Amino acid sequence: MNYRHHLTVGLAVLALSCSSDTAPEKLAAAGDDGSGHTAPTEQTLRANAAVLKTLPFDDRTDFDLAKRGFIGARKDPKILDAKGNVVWNLDDYRFETGDAPASVNPSLWRQAKLNSIHGLFKVAPRIYQVRGYDLANMTLVEGDTGWIVIDVMTTEETARAAMDLVREHLGTKPVKAVIYTHSHIDHFGGIRGVLPDADAAAGVPIIAPDGFLEEAVSENVLAGTAMARRASYMFGFLLERNARAHVDSGLGKGTAPGTYGLVAPTELVTGVERVMNLDGLEVVFQNTPGAEAPAELMAYFPTLRAMCGAENVSHVLHNVLTLRGAKVRDALRWSAYLEDAIARASDVDVLFASHHWPTWGHDEIIAYLKKQRDIYKYIHDQTLRFANRGYTPREIAELITLPDSLSKTFAVRGYYGTVSHNSKAVYQHYFGWFEGNPAGLNPLPPEEEAVRYVDAMGGAAAVLEKGLAAYGDGDYRWAATMLNHLVFADPTHTGARQALADVYDQLGYQAESGPWRDFYLTGAGELRGNALPASRDAITPIDIVQSMPTHLFFDALAVRLNGEEAADEDTVLNFVFTDIDETHVLEIENGVLHHARSDARSDADVTVTLTRGDWNKLIANTVTLQELIFDGRIDVDGSTLSLIGFFAMLDEQDPAFSIVVP
Ligand SMILES: [Zn+2]
Repeated sequence: MNYRHHLTVGLAVLALSCSSDTAPEKLAAAGDDGSGHTAPTEQTLRANAAVLKTLPFDDRTDFDLAKRGFIGARKDPKILDAKGNVVWNLDDYRFETGDAPASVNPSLWRQAKLNSIHGLFKVAPRIYQVRGYDLANMTLVEGDTGWIVIDVMTTEETARAAMDLVREHLGTKPVKAVIYTHSHIDHFGGIRGVLPDADAAAGVPIIAPDGFLEEAVSENVLAGTAMARRASYMFGFLLERNARAHVDSGLGKGTAPGTYGLVAPTELVTGVERVMNLDGLEVVFQNTPGAEAPAELMAYFPTLRAMCGAENVSHVLHNVLTLRGAKVRDALRWSAYLEDAIARASDVDVLFASHHWPTWGHDEIIAYLKKQRDIYKYIHDQTLRFANRGYTPREIAELITLPDSLSKTFAVRGYYGTVSHNSKAVYQHYFGWFEGNPAGLNPLPPEEEAVRYVDAMGGAAAVLEKGLAAYGDGDYRWAATMLNHLVFADPTHTGARQALADVYDQLGYQAESGPWRDFYLTGAGELRGNALPASRDAITPIDIVQSMPTHLFFDALAVRLNGEEAADEDTVLNFVFTDIDETHVLEIENGVLHHARSDARSDADVTVTLTRGDWNKLIANTVTLQELIFDGRIDVDGSTLSLIGFFAMLDEQDPAFSIVVP
């Protein structure tokens, strides 16, 4: 039995890991580009050309703003980890020049070019940003004696590279404070690149919003494996970087697969507002929980007339529900926080954020904040307006039409979230999955339904013919529905897989949202059986494991218990952690794994004694259970068979489960 695998909890999404799958036979496509992605069709050409007429592409202001204050850029295009793996590569995106190729929505292409602008920038007196070397930004504010660093990017490697660039151009100054704006890993994972060791971190206040640590380590734990798999679609981990594959994530270029860390905050911002003095600068923090992230804050620097909007504002329509999966966010609260920010911005001359370039000028900032505020409120209010007239999510997504004042503003275009899926998220927030129509109460599962659809439509050959005809007409959404039924009815049907992949190519090429494009093109690649990159081990960062409260591990184990196998079990296990003086009792009853922190039970089947430190290593995959037993670092008292039986009832999670086939 593989204990190592059995003990791994679902933290994979925190590591944003890639995983490999056994590829079925590779399908060749007509006019493919080597990865199989087909040429854009006439219809895609026309659709993308039409986009050029709908938006003010002549307005180049954002390009000027994204370059404003440029100081210098990295000379080496690659950022490597200690083993020489590439964490970031500027050369990946060198192809993004000139007009949009026919296989990319011109609006997304424009955003991709903006996100490719990279370097160290002077934002305002005493405020600097490093942009374009990670999905996220690092902002540095000059205090009286050193730097206040706002957000430390995703990885140690990219953060270190950012600090190197700062030192190269602005000299060496100590880090006097760190602010994590929110609980997403692209804003705290790189802390070891900023504070490399205990000496550097000693005495440096780390400020974070209330609830930061719990949210940072727990948001993705229970559903982590599935979220990681879905994230691989959303961010195009498996796609090449070219005009027929990944071009941008909308929010930034893409994710950085490096080394993640976490140093716990020393100061939490609780309540609505807190004023602090950091290295001689007054900072007014505004807590904004439950909007873009469960724990998030914005910050206002009165003496610098500057505001940090964290990730509540950006140059995209953000996600009310991210496609990798997460708990749905509250669009109304989000909008209300931005209303509050507008009130605070009366003395602000510059607004910077966790992603993208800043906004300068008081009037421009107010106008920008109002549009950010209103895009979420408009989607929220109109979704409920239609819902209260009986419309359901797929109908509402078609019905919502933005006013020109919003739809023609690049900063709220759907490069990351979309009006379509955000309106469905608002519906979900209020109503959940059930649309109220009894036909949808208990339909057949996808495979059974697909077999009957195909039969009702005249059999596989007829469905393929209709699917290809819809493809020929450029009716890609309908073609996808029909061909998806055919693939689910018979995943070995290579013609159906090929045709569906071709349809997904075109849907991807037309998408304005980076994640939509990546979803379609990743699906196309997997249907074609493209060889996936070699698996990167899903090592859960030890920093993050150490920060996890013990109960969270047992929550994560509980969601792996095979309820059927455990149905008749009645097992009690004591886990005694000697170094932290905590005992946790686990009991299986009614097919459910319960756990509680309490005294050891004398009737337990087995008592396992070890340190929390060794437990962390076990979870982080840096030691195996066998090694701990061999070294005498774990003591098993009682029935070893019960212990083995317990682990045998835990399901292995599947990091490469199928999505586009049953
Ligand atoms: Zn972010």
